[in-house]
Amino acid sequence: MTATLSVPASRRRDGQDYLRVGAGPALTAMWAGAAAVVFLWWHDTPFVTGLDGWLTNAGRITGLLAGYLVVLLLALMARVPALERGVGTDRLARWHAMAGRYTVCISVAHTLLIIWGYSVTAHASVLNQTGSFLTSYPDVLMATVALGLLVLVGVVSARAARRRVSYETWHFIHLYTYLAIALAFSHQFATGADFMTNLPARVLWSAMYVVVAVLLVWFRLVRPVVQALRHQLRVVEVRRESADTVSVWMSGRHLERLGIEPGQFFRWRFLTRGRWWAANPYSLSAAPSGNLLRITVKHAGEHSRGLFSLEPGTRVLAEGPFGAFTAGRRTRRKVLLIGGGVGITPIRALFESLPGEPGDLTLAYRATSASDIVFRDELEWIARERGAKLFYLLGSRGTKRRTDPLNAANLERHVPGLREHDVYLCGPPGMTERAQAELRKAGVPRRRIHHESFTF
Ligand SMILES: Cc1cc2nc3c(=O)[nH]c(=O)nc-3n(C[C@H](O)[C@H](O)[C@H](O)COP(=O)(O)OP(=O)(O)OC[C@H]3O[C@@H](n4cnc5c(N)ncnc54)[C@H](O)[C@@H]3O)c2cc1C
Repeated sequence: MTATLSVPASRRRDGQDYLRVGAGPALTAMWAGAAAVVFLWWHDTPFVTGLDGWLTNAGRITGLLAGYLVVLLLALMARVPALERGVGTDRLARWHAMAGRYTVCISVAHTLLIIWGYSVTAHASVLNQTGSFLTSYPDVLMATVALGLLVLVGVVSARAARRRVSYETWHFIHLYTYLAIALAFSHQFATGADFMTNLPARVLWSAMYVVVAVLLVWFRLVRPVVQALRHQLRVVEVRRESADTVSVWMSGRHLERLGIEPGQFFRWRFLTRGRWWAANPYSLSAAPSGNLLRITVKHAGEHSRGLFSLEPGTRVLAEGPFGAFTAGRRTRRKVLLIGGGVGITPIRALFESLPGEPGDLTLAYRATSASDIVFRDELEWIARERGAKLFYLLGSRGTKRRTDPLNAANLERHVPGLREHDVYLCGPPGMTERAQAELRKAGVPRRRIHHESFTF
């Protein structure tokens, strides 16, 4: 199987651009939702008096915000195409992680404030009040279990703990969030002052939960099944690219209907005995060509290693395409692409397909040594065909900042007029952080550095 130079349509079949909701509008909508939640409390609260009043009302506001935030957490991960293409999966995941931390803290604050406020009103101790809540209100008991689950998910997701557990364990524990949301739902209407007597508020609140549930079921369950049946993907060839890197070619039907944009990725599930249960993300390493797709994978752990021994004919379920690391982010005619290690995969697809005249595109490939370079022939061929510039930056990973080939002076030497470029950057975390700092030093504004992260 050889790579061909193709420039696929990055528009829908009807000629319209894909619907994208950018980060600005998405953030505005999220803050507007939070403001509406606070408005709901303010609307239902004529006045606040006394310590118990202040505590209980602070508990009500935090409770409402927690109820809103858990829905937001799910919406961010619902894989809604307009958000995936506009905001990008990595940024959505970062927002999700940040909102998750707030949700856990606000939920704990809600619980403590409500208990404290009621205990002041009832002249009871905090312990007695807690016992009374748990024994008198079954919905509150369920919500307390939900809080425990949320705290568990938060603790396992904390950076220090996250490094110690496998991705699969972390992901599995994360699924308890759904259970927590289901358990906590009823106490909002049974005991929430803002809902007990306010039917429109109850209806709107329920609608918010139902809409997000429908999005989740549609985009995470129904759509992947429909896609699998429609496209019938199978492995056609597995080719070793270097000692620790392999390319997997797959063919399928009607691939043009997937609306793939070079730079995007899929979650791939290879239907073999030991692997069918895991869906791992890999970027396309070439723009789609006819009925063929290609990924290129570096050996990292169990899933990636297993791809080295895939047999032609293996069925594949691909969920996607995802990600905003595409031509849609471009703002300038001149583009510098920087790929490091296996981060070259989406960069290779963009190098092939980004529109441009000779001289518009430059590719810098950061690798430890010449033997780590993959796609050398392909990249050189694309560079020749497109009149693009290609250069390699070789050196070990631990190289000091001053001597790292990826420093501002070196980049400016290779790329005249660097600050006038858009930059697309993908590679291991340490390398991309350093590259971003060097690019900023060279005068490239942050908004023109487009970055894809391989770690969620
Ligand atoms: C958007 C994106 C695009 C990627 N594209 C490529 C690519 O083109 N080529 C390539 O070689 N690698 C790519 N990766 C990285 C690749 O997904 C991981 O190296 C691979 O999933 C590791 O799985 P493993 O079982 O082999 O290793 P493990 O040792 O199990 O995992 C190593 C690390 O990979 C990540 N990871 C594992 N499973 C998943 C999962 N299901 N979802 C998200 N992250 C996971 C975790 O951070 C984990 O700590 C990409 C990652 C992302 C997020």
